[in-house]
Amino acid sequence: MAGEPQTDCLFCKIVSGDIPATIVRESDTTVAFRDINPQAPTHVLVIPKVHYPDAATLAAAEPQIAADVLREAGAVAADEKVDGSGYRIILNTGSGAGQTVFHAHAHVLGGRGLQWPPG
Ligand code: AMP
Ligand code: ZN
Repeated sequence: MAGEPQTDCLFCKIVSGDIPATIVRESDTTVAFRDINPQAPTHVLVIPKVHYPDAATLAAAEPQIAADVLREAGAVAADEKVDGSGYRIILNTGSGAGQTVFHAHAHVLGGRGLQWPPG
């Protein structure tokens, strides 16, 4: 069924606690944890607890949970005190755009200067 946990999904295993992560926030529908390979002083991933392969698919099926992900991304930025200096929310979609984990996730990057456009 859409949204059900996938046995071979890394982020479903973080949601279930089968794989450890440094969790910084949790809500009824989301988990936020530090990226294992940080690209900035603040690099946190916000994921829905339900499994969808990317952010747009999540938004089409569960718009409230997609909104929860964005709200929590903003809350992470405030918690990390990067909201004043500015931060970036990134939704890599598809392998050509660098997506490597096919469970929807938002990257929250901040704490350093961020180039525009991104590479
Ligand atoms: P993406 O390339 O957009 O699919 O992002 C996947 C992100 O997950 C990458 O930035 C990885 O560094 C990160 N990542 C992979 N495995 C883990 C893990 N076990 N804990 C935390 N972050 C991870
Ligand atoms: Zn998953």
